[in-house]
Amino acid sequence: MSVLIENVYVAPVAGPEIESGYIRIEGDRIAELGAGPAPAVPGASRIDGTGCLATPGLVNTHHHLYQWASQGLAQDATLFEWLVALYRVWAAMDAEVVKGAAQAGLSWLALSGCTTSSDHHYVFPKGRGDLLAAEIEAAREVGLRFHPARGSMDRGESKGGLPPDVVVEELDDILAATAEAVDAYHDPSFSSMLRVVVAPCSPFSASAELMTESAALARAKGVRLHTHLAETLDEDEHCLREFGLRPVDYMEKLGWLGPDVWFAHAVHLSDADIGKLVATGTGSAHCPSSNGRLGAGIARVSELLRRGANVGLGVDGNASSELTPLAGEMRQALLFQRARYGPEALTARQALELATLGGARNLGREGELGSLEPGKLADLALWRVDGPYTAAVADPVCALVFGPVPPLARVLVGGRTVVADGELKTVAQDAAGRAGAAAHRRLMRLAEERGITAAKEVHQDHGDART
Ligand SMILES: [Zn+2]
Repeated sequence: MSVLIENVYVAPVAGPEIESGYIRIEGDRIAELGAGPAPAVPGASRIDGTGCLATPGLVNTHHHLYQWASQGLAQDATLFEWLVALYRVWAAMDAEVVKGAAQAGLSWLALSGCTTSSDHHYVFPKGRGDLLAAEIEAAREVGLRFHPARGSMDRGESKGGLPPDVVVEELDDILAATAEAVDAYHDPSFSSMLRVVVAPCSPFSASAELMTESAALARAKGVRLHTHLAETLDEDEHCLREFGLRPVDYMEKLGWLGPDVWFAHAVHLSDADIGKLVATGTGSAHCPSSNGRLGAGIARVSELLRRGANVGLGVDGNASSELTPLAGEMRQALLFQRARYGPEALTARQALELATLGGARNLGREGELGSLEPGKLADLALWRVDGPYTAAVADPVCALVFGPVPPLARVLVGGRTVVADGELKTVAQDAAGRAGAAAHRRLMRLAEERGITAAKEVHQDHGDART
């Protein structure tokens, strides 16, 4: 099957931009791109890209899809207050909640130009169905490439951790379930639609043993490692108090620095911490809206990039980022860096690279994804930048990053249309949204049945969450 996208501005991220050119797709790969009119390809289906900007599909490298069901709660809380308020609500979730939340969350990602998403799922209450299978099913329906990270927590309150014991699992159960998930779902092939990641939740909810055993498991299976790190100053204090080390030093001690690891957030880094990430090839997922919402701080992204570290973008869960579209995180990243370091801190093109190639590197897929190059997978977004208002911006990459997110003419995953003219083509768009709202209602009801009154615990200001 051949597809030709014609008359389009191409920002390939790797290589020079093309003001008016074409992209030829054969099967699930990019065959060719060039300037000028498209070549004659008998039988090819043609997409007119007039007025559009073609970029690689965006790659989301940190998310918690289930949190679609718990948006808008603990609105003025710090991270630790917010977690303490929400852990008991999340403990009530079941596979139906996760399925509906993932249908809405993944659809929302596709509608902001995302073609590959990771998801960090770390709450597995007993007897609530197969939560990982539920989100994998949703990803297959929506048609995005999916990198589910089998998360875990084993360090509950009784062991000095932050989460209540009711949401943590036993170490042996976690390792068995994680190995099973890799064996059942992980596909290492070039065109893979699904790769599993091993992902204990954080230093304040996972034991040192879980961290080291998880790293050994991931490396034995040849899959990647992910966790939250250095998100807030509270975490810094917790690590110093409990382990006598700051977060990056603690991860180094546990064998958790390396080219197969990426951390979510990495906000509070010292110069020496940045040096360690660079030296070991450890990546990070910058989640600016979530960091802003929770008042966590501003990550040192421009310094990380200048020193050669890899950084991708993440929306983070919808309970802290709310409805932030992935494309909007490019703008948020640019504004945060400039607010902190000045107007040259991050360019529009660097922001686009974070959202594409940076993300692909975090997932270990820079050979297949993240840029428009012959031989890579045909995952791309066509942004309509000729609208009556946006047409006043001559530079389409500037229009995409500096301004509000432009409408999508098309999103292709492996050459397959997922979005056309702003509408999902793989699933019924309104039904996917309604599934997310139903998941929210169901989670609130399940929580109330267990005596957790979400309205009392988390609708009010942070005074309620502080205990
Ligand atoms: Zn997170």
